Amino acid sequence: TSGSEENDVVIIGGGPGGYVAAIKAAQLGLKTTCIEKRGTLGGTCLNVGCIPSKALLHSSHMFHEAQHSFASHGVKFSSVEVDLPAMMAQKDKAVSTLTRGIEGLFKKNKVNYVKGYGKFISPSEVSVDTVDGANTVVKGKNIIIATGSDVKSLPGITIDEEKIVSSTGALALKKIPKKLVVIGAGYIGLEMGSVWRRLGSEVTVVEFAPDIVPSMDGEVRKQFQRMLEKQKMKFMLKTKVVGVDTSGDGVKLTLEPASGGDQTTLEADVVLVSAGRTPFTAGLGLDKIGVETDKVGRIPVNERFATNVSGVFAIGDVIPGPMLAHKAEEDGVACVEFIAGKHGHVDYDKVPGVVYTHPEVASVGKTEEQVKALGVEYRVGKFPLLANSRAKAIDDAEGLVKIIAEKETDKILGVHIMAPNAGELIHEAALALTYDASSEDIARVCHAHPTMSEALKEAAMATHDKPIHI
Ligand code: FAD
Repeated sequence: TSGSEENDVVIIGGGPGGYVAAIKAAQLGLKTTCIEKRGTLGGTCLNVGCIPSKALLHSSHMFHEAQHSFASHGVKFSSVEVDLPAMMAQKDKAVSTLTRGIEGLFKKNKVNYVKGYGKFISPSEVSVDTVDGANTVVKGKNIIIATGSDVKSLPGITIDEEKIVSSTGALALKKIPKKLVVIGAGYIGLEMGSVWRRLGSEVTVVEFAPDIVPSMDGEVRKQFQRMLEKQKMKFMLKTKVVGVDTSGDGVKLTLEPASGGDQTTLEADVVLVSAGRTPFTAGLGLDKIGVETDKVGRIPVNERFATNVSGVFAIGDVIPGPMLAHKAEEDGVACVEFIAGKHGHVDYDKVPGVVYTHPEVASVGKTEEQVKALGVEYRVGKFPLLANSRAKAIDDAEGLVKIIAEKETDKILGVHIMAPNAGELIHEAALALTYDASSEDIARVCHAHPTMSEALKEAAMATHDKPIHI
């Protein structure tokens, strides 16, 4: 490790925010060092988040398809079984290939990589306890905090990563639980619940709020929940966990209606706590240099990602905003563009959100509820996947596209898609929103046939005129 020479930029944290900021800074000609304690790059996302979860979602989906769909497509075999260690090994290989790939990108772009725990000793110096047991001081004219977030537990619940697991434990269970209880119906809980449901677990999701994924458009959410229920995921909404007993073989949860009332119990082999994530700044020495945090531990920043301490910036999950990898990446790029004297910009109204269940649910822009609350007059255009030829051809036609456009101008305000590949389809909508397109703009773009993207075109037709195929 080195770092005694002064850097233009020092980044603490090598997740999607930090590593992308580091590469971009180096590309802009800035002398850059990235400090990461984990031993591998890629942060939560690559190591214990986006990537391993998508690997298991894909593998478990293949198993589920083999069990339930292949025969109707004329593909038959005598038996199909899960080899969990092999499934986990494929996930681990995906993770290690990608994290090593970032090390390669650091070398290629001449980013100096220091493996160790960083701690501020002044606004321009970070002391690092390196993973090999040494200590080094890294100096920088500008320091970016990209320390991300960590799993959050609930009062009275201790995560042991065996019986009571966080998403990290749920990505590495050694056997398929007979009964899995998921506390929290956010996207992480529903994705991990889907993985184990497909592999055979009975899954019950307990949620305090009256709805699953509260940020989702209400109409789409209803269909989404029905779809998950069809997959035999059970929901206990408006319910709180008031007691956890792990003394027996499994876990016994005591539940109560959110508004109070009679208690019930629920047994599980494994309980996944997915009640949100919390900004991670432990041991960073923020108090030492006077960087402020808000009441939930996030670091407030201005539009240039500057904290209240000159020369110290923050990006990603550790600042307010959606806790998403692509948002952290955008923050990272914009932050170093400002540091390099250029202009950076992130439009937080157009950050897509995707739930990677099957079908996927993706959205960008405003929900109908948000548009209503703004008092804007609007039109809604919808198109069901059942009327889309590609979805029918492959017999995977559950879902819809919903577009909300301003009534007077036809400008698109929000797009919500439930479809097998909604996470890919959403970017045409993100582009449209970014360029202030109208629904007619999308409707008049020639879309290849047969594709699910045609459902977006038809929903756009339905928004300002009439669709053809329904
Ligand atoms: P992080 O990725 O958390 O990285 C921060 C890094 O900083 C960590 O590696 C940490 O070790 C390091 N660090 C912290 N403190 C120090 C220190 N003092 N010194 C040195 N290093 C330090 N988002 C999506 O967009 N799509 C998804 O599909 C998705 N799926 C997810 C699934 C799961 C199960 C989870 C848990 C999260 C998922 N996320 C997803 C969220 C995503 O992982 C985060 O939004 C993203 O990783 C945030 O990036 P970041 O760089 O801000 O922080």
